[in-house]
Amino acid sequence: MVATASLALASLAAAAAGTAAPARAGDVAALQRAEARFAPVELKVDVSTLPEGERRALGRLVEAARLLDALFLRQVWAGNDALLLRLAGDGTPLGRARLASLLRNKGPWDRLDGDRPFVPGVPEKPAAASFYPAGATKEEVAAFLDSLPPGAREEAAGFYSVLRRAPDGTISVVPYALEYQGPLARAAALLEDAASLTADPSLKAFLAARAGAFGSNRYAESDVAWMALDGPIEATIGPYEVYEDGWFNAKAAFEAFLGVRDDAETAKLARFAAELQGIEDALPIDDAFKQRKLPAAAPIRVVNELLATGDAARGVTTAAYNLPNDEAVVAAHGSKRIMLKNVQEAKFREVLRPIAAVVLSPPDRARVAFDPFFTHILMHELVHGLGPHRIRVDGRDTTVRAALGDLSSAIEEAKADVGGLFALDKLLREGKLDRSMEATLYPTFVASAIRSIRFGANEAHGRGMALQLGWYLDHGALRAGKDGTLSVDAARMREAAAGLTRELMTLQAHGDRAAAQALLDRYATPRPEVERAVARLAAVPVDIAPRFPTAAALAP
Ligand code: ZN
Repeated sequence: MVATASLALASLAAAAAGTAAPARAGDVAALQRAEARFAPVELKVDVSTLPEGERRALGRLVEAARLLDALFLRQVWAGNDALLLRLAGDGTPLGRARLASLLRNKGPWDRLDGDRPFVPGVPEKPAAASFYPAGATKEEVAAFLDSLPPGAREEAAGFYSVLRRAPDGTISVVPYALEYQGPLARAAALLEDAASLTADPSLKAFLAARAGAFGSNRYAESDVAWMALDGPIEATIGPYEVYEDGWFNAKAAFEAFLGVRDDAETAKLARFAAELQGIEDALPIDDAFKQRKLPAAAPIRVVNELLATGDAARGVTTAAYNLPNDEAVVAAHGSKRIMLKNVQEAKFREVLRPIAAVVLSPPDRARVAFDPFFTHILMHELVHGLGPHRIRVDGRDTTVRAALGDLSSAIEEAKADVGGLFALDKLLREGKLDRSMEATLYPTFVASAIRSIRFGANEAHGRGMALQLGWYLDHGALRAGKDGTLSVDAARMREAAAGLTRELMTLQAHGDRAAAQALLDRYATPRPEVERAVARLAAVPVDIAPRFPTAAALAP
């Protein structure tokens, strides 16, 4: 750790001393343009109704979350601490702009622009982050892991350890509890403090277990306690996602999400859960493909976020997440999904509405609203559980995922979207939703689809969205006017949504990969109508840049 940091410092000093290009005024403007892709928003949460003890507990959790933010910076790159210190001492406009970009990207590389460095003299973003020995190659680490007996290999290749080089040149395994001992001990003390302040027994249990895990390096029990959280405060804090480990997707990055449960949306979810069997029974597919008795759905919590740090606060802002990642815990206890409502609201206001103003016809853009947007996201999650999952192909038992292989995600995401439209339409016709949604549902969905396409038509969500837009255009449910704006025909949209639900779920029931490929080939290629619409969005922010005044007030 120390050796790598001083190396980085040396290279920075060399860059500052001469060879690197001196700062130009244009650098500040370029950094400001990059920053302008994110619309600044304040994520506030009303905590005034929480008892004093809960607010004080939240304050301790905010402090712990900040410690994990600093740990994540260390995980991304061993040189981050030194660079952060240097930029913090640089009061010039360029220094301040670089510091802001470093904090947004959690390192001196632009995550939205292919990890392009924006501070001269820094190396390329290390794919291995700082999880593996400085100077080691991926092949060397893979060979080391393969040389270990099974038990030791599991720990070395697992979520909660780093690999370091010992003085004699050999590689050793260092558990997080040791590598990050000081900050984790302080975070554990704050969690224990918060546990003593809260009156919610489920939060008490989780925080005590997680504080213990920071010292013992054993996380499974606290993951199970997190699943059982059932009070006003929703806290996710610890090492979780593995994306930052670009070599093996094995090492967990530190992050924290702190939020307060949204009671109205939670009640809506409970209402929808009671409707799911009725929706399954009414699906526009052959009765033989329907589930006669749906299994219990995985828990979903709707939360308003008051702070996100570390891996949860880099680049594009997370609006929902599924945890834990530990397969052994998931197999035994399932997983839980958290939807961050105020994050979705901010994205709706700052990104979706401006998109609608550009791409939709004037009458349709006036119909775009937050309630259908968020309600459809909730229904999308529930619809993942409907329709065919375990299937029989050529006389043997398999799953849709296995049968469709690499196409399964794009088809499943499209199914959840379009099945969500089908389900909401059914509830609307039965008078179980506010009638106003009849007019707002489809235009809002189309604006949301264009937003997803903008993130790339190659990943599963984007490809599934391209498929749907192609289908709606071909079925006359969506039309481009002379000025290039898109108009929705609600009656045809309703029919087209039922038709595509039937198409997707039937090919899933047959495990028919060839049919999935043919459908994607025919409909998922971006249409000129859609490409023209996306091309006009250059001035619309890509995402939001949250500030957290509630957290700042709870722990000044
Ligand atoms: Zn989904």
